[in-house]
Amino acid sequence: MVSRKSQTGSRHSVSISLIPIALLVLCVMGSLALVAHSAAMRQVSVELEREKLQLTQSFHYEAEGLLSVLARDEGLGDLVSGGQNRADRDRTLQNLLRRQNLDYAVLVSRMDGVTLAEVGEPDVILQRARAVQMVIDNSRMRGMEGATLGIGREARVAQDGTGLMTFATLPVGRTLVLIVTRPINTLALRRLATMLALPNLRVIAGRSTLESSLAITGLDSRAVMSVIWDPAREASDILGELALFGFIGTCLVATVGVLLFRRIRRSTEELLRREAQASHEARHDALSGLPNRTVFIDALNENMEDLPHRDHSVAVLLLDLDKFKDVNDTYGHAAGDGVLVEFGARVRPLLRQTDVLARLGGDEFAVLLPAVRSHLDATRLAQAIVDATNRPFVVDGIDMRIGVTVGIAIGPSDGTDSATLLRAADTALYRAKNEGRNRFNLYEHRMNEQERMRKLVDDELRGAIERDELTLVYQPQVHADSGRIASVEALVRWRHPVHGMISPSMFISAAEERGLIVPLGEWVMRRAMRDAARWPKLRVGVNVSAVQFRQKDFVRSVARVLKESAVQSSQLELELTEGVLVEDADQAQAAMMELRSLGVKLALDDFGTGYSSLIYLRRFAFDKIKIDKSFLDQMEATGESAILVHSVVHLGRALGLEVTAEGVETEEQRRFLQAVGCHLLQGYLFSKPVAAEQLDELLQVDGDISRYPPRQPTAA
Ligand code: C2E
Ligand code: CA
Ligand code: CA
Repeated sequence: MVSRKSQTGSRHSVSISLIPIALLVLCVMGSLALVAHSAAMRQVSVELEREKLQLTQSFHYEAEGLLSVLARDEGLGDLVSGGQNRADRDRTLQNLLRRQNLDYAVLVSRMDGVTLAEVGEPDVILQRARAVQMVIDNSRMRGMEGATLGIGREARVAQDGTGLMTFATLPVGRTLVLIVTRPINTLALRRLATMLALPNLRVIAGRSTLESSLAITGLDSRAVMSVIWDPAREASDILGELALFGFIGTCLVATVGVLLFRRIRRSTEELLRREAQASHEARHDALSGLPNRTVFIDALNENMEDLPHRDHSVAVLLLDLDKFKDVNDTYGHAAGDGVLVEFGARVRPLLRQTDVLARLGGDEFAVLLPAVRSHLDATRLAQAIVDATNRPFVVDGIDMRIGVTVGIAIGPSDGTDSATLLRAADTALYRAKNEGRNRFNLYEHRMNEQERMRKLVDDELRGAIERDELTLVYQPQVHADSGRIASVEALVRWRHPVHGMISPSMFISAAEERGLIVPLGEWVMRRAMRDAARWPKLRVGVNVSAVQFRQKDFVRSVARVLKESAVQSSQLELELTEGVLVEDADQAQAAMMELRSLGVKLALDDFGTGYSSLIYLRRFAFDKIKIDKSFLDQMEATGESAILVHSVVHLGRALGLEVTAEGVETEEQRRFLQAVGCHLLQGYLFSKPVAAEQLDELLQVDGDISRYPPRQPTAA
């Protein structure tokens, strides 16, 4: 769930980070377009002004050109001389008109404005004369010299576009002014257009609304005609082209960008998906699909860090399947896998959503409860897990029975950091296993002692053997019907100079783990045989750890001890547990045969705590079985156990074995065991384990030692 969230999260962040970039690009492009547009517009209006100015000047030059041509015309000299009459003047002007391609000419007296001569088309003469008169009136005051461009009010625009006139005034001599007009025809307009690069230059009547137009005003300042042309809007044209290219370019870039983006996004998604998958695989157990150790430790670390800020506790449950190895060995790994998967499926529904169930490896699982109010939350769950596991597992039609052992630690009381809490849970698990499996155990602070003990064993047990700190106590096994001592069991004790008497349950398994069990076992056997010499008629039981038994030269070491001691080998009874037989049955059987040939007796210890006891009974050559104390304990609770004890005793007797019941504490138990035919009884009802000297005393008792007063001071 976490990884899925992060996946969409990063996809979001990809698109979120793209939005401002896209906006920025748009803004930049928009402002560039605006700047380009306004620059182009400015360029266009500047250009327009230039065109208008050029056109105005061209008309101006046209008039000036005309004036300079007229000034060089000899015919004007005749006019100046003044000697001519009106008819002569008219003729002179007529010639001028023809020569210079003028359409109207008038000679005016500068003094009084009288028209002295006039030639041109008759219908416009009157009008023009009036107009020219006004020009002269106006210009006289200003001492008008040279040429000016103007046009008569009634000027018409001809079909061919002519109608624009050059209007020039020329002072002739001191008293006369010559005024001429010349039409600008289609050809002239075209020439002008080419020269000024003004395409389609033409003339229309009235004022034009076009920008590329020059209004020709009459004398009353009203526009009578307009010169228009197609504007050469280079800048805006370029801009238009640019805009087109820009548009296409932008489209291209955008398309490429979108494609690229989609591709990047697709590959990012693919990458994220693969990453999520890889991280899922890295964080989950392939078989059960449950989170793995890494996830569990991470979650635990997180919760432990948070713990000081919260008002509840954190619980860790370590789960270890019982008899799982048997399932694998007997039914194969596929069946084992099925059991593991099924186990996960049974436990998960017992948890809350926030609880973490992880498979740590093999048949080890762990549960993290991030919020518990009391240890009862954890123990209730542990019991539920044990119950769920005790229901038969059916995989591929095979009916299998397993159990689970649970160690519980609760933070912060059992540990304020992950490592300590896990160690505490492990210690609790370890103890639960020692106490008979298929159960749960809460880590208690006294378990710290067990940890200290492991350390103590590490540091001091080897030296303890040398320093003679170990000692043996003996617990009698009595005849069920007479209560007389039949044999004894040697039990080791560690008399620690600081910690006092230490029970073997505190250090035997630690000694096994540290590889100290072999020298310890040898010491016990040697000492037991030395003591046994005092009680020649008594069989002495010696416990043999599985680790010790599996040593290659175990049989030889037994033989050596027996040889060194002065006792009959039949006085030695080795107590073996099923664990001895499970690992390598063939080798165990061979060793047992050798031991028997030495004359040593063999007892099957803790009968009923293992799983396939009856099989071992048939196969291996034991002399005796010792029914475990837990059998008797359960007997009280359920009638079922009583039947079981009953049948075990019967079976033992049928196989010719001596049957001993351990841990007999009450008269009731004694009566029951006696009734079902149990041969020997061992337990506090008769005697606690005692030192050799005290056993000497007990052996003096003639009759039932359970009635022997006073009760023995105990060494147990
Ligand atoms: P175990 O072989 O089952 O020994 C019997 C245990 O039950 C002894 O505990 C004994 O004191 C206790 N017991 C006897 N009668 C009663 C009773 O009526 N009520 C109760 N509650 N307990 C009773 P102990 O001496 O503490 O030994 C514990 C275990 O340590 C032994 O269990 C045995 O497995 C192991 N052990 C003891 N000595 C040696 C040894 O020299 N070598 C090895 N390898 N293991 C030893
Ligand atoms: Ca024993
Ligand atoms: Ca036992």
